[in-house]
Amino acid sequence: MPNRIWEEIERLKKERGAIILAHSYQPGVIQDIADFVGDSLELSRIAARESAELVIFCGVKFMAETAKLLSPESTVVLAAPDADCSLAACMSGADLREMKRKHPGAEAVMYVNSTIDLKAETWACCTSANSVEVVEAAPSDEVIFGPDRNLGTWVASQTDKTLHIWPGGCHAHSGADIRDLREKMAEWPDAEVLVHPESPSVFLREADEVLGTGGMIRHVEKSRAVKFIIGTEEGMIYRLETLFPDRQFLAAGKIICDDMGYTTPELVLKALESQDCGIQIPAEFAERAEAAVRRMTEIGG
Ligand code: SF4
Repeated sequence: MPNRIWEEIERLKKERGAIILAHSYQPGVIQDIADFVGDSLELSRIAARESAELVIFCGVKFMAETAKLLSPESTVVLAAPDADCSLAACMSGADLREMKRKHPGAEAVMYVNSTIDLKAETWACCTSANSVEVVEAAPSDEVIFGPDRNLGTWVASQTDKTLHIWPGGCHAHSGADIRDLREKMAEWPDAEVLVHPESPSVFLREADEVLGTGGMIRHVEKSRAVKFIIGTEEGMIYRLETLFPDRQFLAAGKIICDDMGYTTPELVLKALESQDCGIQIPAEFAERAEAAVRRMTEIGG
């Protein structure tokens, strides 16, 4: 990245009271620019704690919306305005209302990778880090879970509650090819295999640990292993290599989210320069969606 852009970003950050948040799947250069790098839950909590005047979010749309819900006083700008999530797009608030009609008495727990109108219909959101805890905390024995089928299936295997699972999926994780993982396992037979629960169940069966991105970091920190095969979006490899330069990491396969790659240093600079009012949450959803997200931040993980 040219020095000029780096210096301008640093200058504008100070001038505008801004912080830059980046998800662990972001390109390496964006992780280097950011003040904080983390998973959805960590970044949501940081946005709420910091109460910055301006939050530049490097990730996808639902993440910037979540930050705005928790920091309504901050201006939250998504650095790459077109970056969206295929998983969030596959279930709406109307879909959930229909499921509630079929399963009266079941509370709804929705993955935070979801649209605002879906969050507004939800008892609590969760991340992959606290999904089991949130389902356990729901005040009903039956729970409607969405939008991710793979995560829902994994949560169902960890709880006695009955889950009614929406059949959605993340195109990046769902498309992962088990032959790639098996090839890597043959290449590095002594490596620990860490797999994200959005991955297909055949991946989860091969894993030593099923973990969200924050859980992967905590696991590597305390593990004695030197080599790790990582079954999640490839941006995570850069994050792990930065944090643990004495360990080795190999991607389990081609798990690539194009939208996560949209952010560039130029777009971060443009977001800092822009005077627009950033993410706006429609008033009809704001209060209910915020309650669902606040529950998420209060429960476990
Ligand atoms: S990796 Fe999948 S779940 Fe994550 S933002 Fe991309 S499409 Fe959405």
